[in-house]
Amino acid sequence: MRAEELRARHPFAAEVLTLYLALLEVQEEAWSAVCESPPHPGELPRWAAARVLPAVVEATVAEGPAALREAVRSRIAGADHDGLAGWLAGAELDPVDRYLARASLAPVLEALGERAGTACAPGPGGDGGLLCPCCGGPPQLSYLAASGESLVSGGRSLLCARCGSSWSCSRSVCPACGETDEARLAVYAERWEGPVSGNGKGHGDARPVFPHLRIAGCSTCSRYLIEIDMERDARAVPEVDELAALPLDLYAADEGLTKVTPNLMGF
Ligand SMILES: [Zn+2]
Ligand SMILES: [Zn+2]
Repeated sequence: MRAEELRARHPFAAEVLTLYLALLEVQEEAWSAVCESPPHPGELPRWAAARVLPAVVEATVAEGPAALREAVRSRIAGADHDGLAGWLAGAELDPVDRYLARASLAPVLEALGERAGTACAPGPGGDGGLLCPCCGGPPQLSYLAASGESLVSGGRSLLCARCGSSWSCSRSVCPACGETDEARLAVYAERWEGPVSGNGKGHGDARPVFPHLRIAGCSTCSRYLIEIDMERDARAVPEVDELAALPLDLYAADEGLTKVTPNLMGF
């Protein structure tokens, strides 16, 4: 499994990937439960608070990083459907509430597929195809399909941070603000010494840790997201590899960039 492989290879990502794996079991169960007997979209927060959240709390207390474990332990499981409703509505939540809501609701929305949209409020903005056409959520990451793989070969897709669906997006647009001036779209790829500004192509004898990952940033809005190039690593699983990209997140923060939206683990 990709998360296990990356965890073994990248100790800095071990904590988040261990938790990811623990959550995966909980989420697969939730996904199956929804497929079997889908809750009404209006009932999602209550349903997920009762059916998924307790197991998310349990998995987090067992396998989460220490700080998150402590924070979650102090919440009363099952009494928190307000946080879940807020997350669906696109409200600003504190990091722990956001984590609990997302971990509990993401598999539910994913299982609902197209019906997920009716349970969610569209995000702010919303023009130019930068938000998820299914639920109005922001993109978590960008990925480039391997060429020859499908109809969208070599094309760029964005993956929704809320419902997990993908949609296609031009390579030469900032997914946060719609900037199309390529001079303002900065791509940071990584070199052996650490990430440096570049064109995302090879760097001679440098051996990057993540040759298939890069920071797609924008100097107009100072936002970025991680971009996964499936052409360079066909085994990549975008949402898993994005969690392992911590060094790139740290580098982006140093450059004054803010991620379009933090991932499940808050990075
Ligand atoms: Zn979505
Ligand atoms: Zn921008």
